[in-house]
Amino acid sequence: MSAMTMSEKILAKHAGREAVNPGENVWVDVDVLMTHDVCGPGTIGVFKKHFGQNAKVWDREKVVIIPDHYIFTHDVMANRNVDVLRQFVKEQDLPYFYDVGTEKYKGVCHIALPEEGHTRPGEILFGTDSHTCTAGAFGEFATGIGNTDAGFVMGTGKLWLKVPPTMRFVFHGNLPPYLMAKDLILAVIGDIGVDGATYRAMEFDGDGVFALNIEERMTLCNMAIEAGGKNGIIPVDDVTRKYVNDRGQRSGNKPYTEYRSDADAQFIFEKVYDVTKLEPVVAKPHSPDNKAFVSEIQGTKLDRAYIGSCTGGKLTDFRAAAKVLQGHTVKIDTFIVPATTEVAKGLDTETVGGKSLRDIFLAAGAQIGDASCAACLGGPSDTFGRLNAPISCISTTNRNFPGRMGHKQAQVFLASPLTVAASAITGVIEDPRNFVA
Ligand code: SF4
Repeated sequence: MSAMTMSEKILAKHAGREAVNPGENVWVDVDVLMTHDVCGPGTIGVFKKHFGQNAKVWDREKVVIIPDHYIFTHDVMANRNVDVLRQFVKEQDLPYFYDVGTEKYKGVCHIALPEEGHTRPGEILFGTDSHTCTAGAFGEFATGIGNTDAGFVMGTGKLWLKVPPTMRFVFHGNLPPYLMAKDLILAVIGDIGVDGATYRAMEFDGDGVFALNIEERMTLCNMAIEAGGKNGIIPVDDVTRKYVNDRGQRSGNKPYTEYRSDADAQFIFEKVYDVTKLEPVVAKPHSPDNKAFVSEIQGTKLDRAYIGSCTGGKLTDFRAAAKVLQGHTVKIDTFIVPATTEVAKGLDTETVGGKSLRDIFLAAGAQIGDASCAACLGGPSDTFGRLNAPISCISTTNRNFPGRMGHKQAQVFLASPLTVAASAITGVIEDPRNFVA
């Protein structure tokens, strides 16, 4: 049997094959299908059209529905989308529905999935959202699919998939205190471009990756899609096992299998980074690969700072931001949006210098919103933090295409929570090294 990468091994297993090769098309069995309020109604429509009005999903334990995008809005169509999900969940008697306005409400799907124990090594997770690749941090094959494919998966539990070749990115060294995973992935995307990994698996490896906590690993995998990657993936270690085993209790403690790339597996590309030599990175408007070091554009005037989203709204992100903001006042409008309700609770229980993260943010003059995608995807005009004017914003989100956060002429700079927090204090793009030792 020929050597395989971990992505190839997972796909082979789910295709009932001994081995697969990049470029082959295979039918794979799906472990989890996730959908949300934006794409759920379309997926349900496809499912009903092709499988029948009274059809049942292939496995009610394997469908996870997480409203998260356009949640806290008066927009009638957005609210209607959530109603469609509610009706479907009722019809199908689905156990994993994290409905708005209930105690089960979570927030952003890519963070809610692992928190609720739906991400496990060795599995295949498909979601109707391009950042489903986030879950590769747990050693699984996770990728976004369209509504048509998702409707088919809903009915059959299978999908026809081309096996991607794998690119490997190796990080060595411990991150200096002024860098975060966001800097690493922005550096990678800047180096290879937004099409540099088109339909390829991006495997992250090396002691520099294993030194990261699980949330930082999620940030790395989250942005694989910004380089065109089919999936991002990280081998499993004790950090992964601990998180998955702890959270697995919430979804039935399902067993899982770990896969690692063979020592002689074929990688189509390999790049090695010494993380100790990197500088804070920014992606300038209007593309995630429009890379600059913060030191190159320091002093660029800003109107707003935004810390949130699946990429930059986790507790690790807020701890970092709080370390910078503690004892300071923001000079520009600063919006804080926890990814999930669990992260929101952490703003009260986590402390820096004896003060809760929430108190630090409020004392600094920031505004704190409810857990959701909020302005990451613009959304209806009453969305918290939305860029409703052609202003300039520095953000911990993952996309800065024109109009992504609202106004088409707005300028969005992507950066780490450390850099965004430092910039919020000075009102210009600021080097976090001026605030963090
Ligand atoms: S936070 Fe942003 S990138 Fe993440 S799922 Fe929501 S809209 Fe998409």
